[in-house]
Amino acid sequence: MREFTPAAMVCPRTEWDKLVRHVCQSYPEEGCGILLGEDMAESGATDLRLRLALPASNVWGVPEERGKRFVIPPQEIILADRLAAYLGWQIIGFYHSHPNQPATPSAFDADAAWAGTLMLILSVYDQQLVDAQAWWKAQEVARFVPVPIRQPD
Ligand SMILES: [Zn+2]
Repeated sequence: MREFTPAAMVCPRTEWDKLVRHVCQSYPEEGCGILLGEDMAESGATDLRLRLALPASNVWGVPEERGKRFVIPPQEIILADRLAAYLGWQIIGFYHSHPNQPATPSAFDADAAWAGTLMLILSVYDQQLVDAQAWWKAQEVARFVPVPIRQPD
């Protein structure tokens, strides 16, 4: 797991469109998924490159609370991890939406986040994406740092 903050999340348009569609369709519940990709650190770059956005199930135990909470089944994370390994990639992060809320991490997110992975948050109002921000939970400072999202060159 990488220790330093990535310079950017590189996100192909096809995967972006797919995850945006997923969280808009999940409205008013939180939509969530797993981000598979490559850590370019070995080639000297400091970007994380998204290759595949995998929509996941939100199985938060209290259905009425799924508009403000999410949990991804462990089996889906294990499968995603195996798929990533098979493809020579890794889990670089997770995405989830904030229905009717800004794209900033909640106190719940701060507890749930895995250090050393991206947390992409998408703000959705009325089934429309209004904002998105990638966050990095830095181990050394134990707080979220924003990471720019950019398209591949
Ligand atoms: Zn959240």
